[in-house]
Amino acid sequence: MLLDPSELQLLFAQYNNEWFGGEVPAHRIAYNARFANLAGRITYKPPLIELSPKHFSEHPEALRETLLHEMIHAWLFARGQNPGHTAAFKKKMRELGLSSIYHDLGSAVPRRESAKRFILRCERCTMELLRKRKPPAPISCGRCSGRRYDPRYPLRVLEVVEVRDVPAPAKAAHVVTRR
Ligand SMILES: [Zn+2]
Ligand SMILES: [Zn+2]
Repeated sequence: MLLDPSELQLLFAQYNNEWFGGEVPAHRIAYNARFANLAGRITYKPPLIELSPKHFSEHPEALRETLLHEMIHAWLFARGQNPGHTAAFKKKMRELGLSSIYHDLGSAVPRRESAKRFILRCERCTMELLRKRKPPAPISCGRCSGRRYDPRYPLRVLEVVEVRDVPAPAKAAHVVTRR
């Protein structure tokens, strides 16, 4: 059963109090139905955690670990620390009872850092583009605005921190739920 976004938000608040002393800045948590091969994605600007509805309806047990994992990234970032999979990251994982980043995510493995760090998204048609650099000026959606720049259909810039691939079927057999 898939939690609705308000339930996800409650879970986030609950984990935040329980494990992070409320230090994780508020993030919008949303499902992205366009995720075919992604389980989840986190961006800090704007603070947003997106999850695949398909993946989490099939693997509800993966939600806790995936959410906590993304929250550790956000927590480190908020503290001005390196938000990567550092020693501090792993220490926090152990505190939370999560084991390896590669084997304990409800099998959703973090993808290697991508060179393309920016997503430009049209909120109207949900089209997305990947870019290595942040566009120097606002741009609008080519599909929605035609040939000229149209401020009614801006492309929103998301800076990607991490994307999670949906596990390969072979790995899904190793889903680990600790507790
Ligand atoms: Zn990660
Ligand atoms: Zn569009």
